[in-house]
Amino acid sequence: MEMNIELLRRLSNAFGPPGTEDEPREILRAELEGVADEVRVDKLGNVFFYHMGGGDAPVVMLAAHTDEVALLTTYIEEKGFLRFHTLGGISADVLPGQRFVLRGRKGALRGIVGTKPPHIMTEEERKKPVDMASLFLDVGAESDEAAEEKGCHVGMTGVFDVEFAELGGGYLRGKALDDRAGCFVMAEAFKGLVGYKCNVVAVGTVQEEVGLRGARTSAWQVEPDYGLAIEGTFAADVPGSSPHQTSAALRKGPVVTIADRSVITHPRVLRAIMDAAEAESIPYQFKKIPSGGTDAGAIHLTKAGVPSGTVATPCRYIHGPAAVTHVEDLENTVRLVKAFVKRISEA
Ligand SMILES: [Zn+2]
Repeated sequence: MEMNIELLRRLSNAFGPPGTEDEPREILRAELEGVADEVRVDKLGNVFFYHMGGGDAPVVMLAAHTDEVALLTTYIEEKGFLRFHTLGGISADVLPGQRFVLRGRKGALRGIVGTKPPHIMTEEERKKPVDMASLFLDVGAESDEAAEEKGCHVGMTGVFDVEFAELGGGYLRGKALDDRAGCFVMAEAFKGLVGYKCNVVAVGTVQEEVGLRGARTSAWQVEPDYGLAIEGTFAADVPGSSPHQTSAALRKGPVVTIADRSVITHPRVLRAIMDAAEAESIPYQFKKIPSGGTDAGAIHLTKAGVPSGTVATPCRYIHGPAAVTHVEDLENTVRLVKAFVKRISEA
């Protein structure tokens, strides 16, 4: 399978804070509207791609979220610096010195997260963890008027200003791989399923990072028989993490959730994932730390309940400026999603 890395590059570079997912949504739409029976966007911005070729077969909803962690500007200082809150979980420790791209009244704006220079910090201040409330964005404006002149306003959103890159040897680096890796996998799997007798609704969901919001409203519309969230989940195969903490590792295949904070994978779904992987010799690993939550958490509680699960591509450093993943894991996640849909459709 030749992976369409250009599609992942465009998805990773796209601007998609929670609530403003238009760019990644349009990339998905351009990619899939030629193959889907029907494409629809709802009022919140969830995009639905239908392949209803399975007659009486169960309806399987695939979900990949189109949003990414972001900053939200909350105040413009007299000296032109911007105060912010986060949308989704970003650790304060990774923020100082990071570049951000924001959208203001006059288009894109570049900023950097500033701090008091360490040179003038007290011994005590230097030892303390980074305090989110002490951080600010510097967009190169010397006053509030100058910032407003540049198009700044309260309520702007911004995302990490990091370009996707191939690191060689199949390793890939990019921002927002949580969950553009999932968007990519969903698009590639959907294209591979259109020739098959199955009923699939692939949904690019909004606002996952702030509480699985788009998944909730989209599952309510789809009323699926099964749900599968497709994610980019954290890999911890890095120095300093002991074997029992290495929740997932790169080049070990898709990461299958048994349970996390949002869902316990339904036994029928888990069985179908494992049987599909084994039947097609697809390597996979279990997520070993039951933390975090995914769209499956919202999907499985829809109406009278929807048996659901999650498969993910392992990615190091998610929710930071840039994540690292491997093309082999993307490829195997695409294979597993397709194999799962086929198996559960035949059951
Ligand atoms: Zn995610």
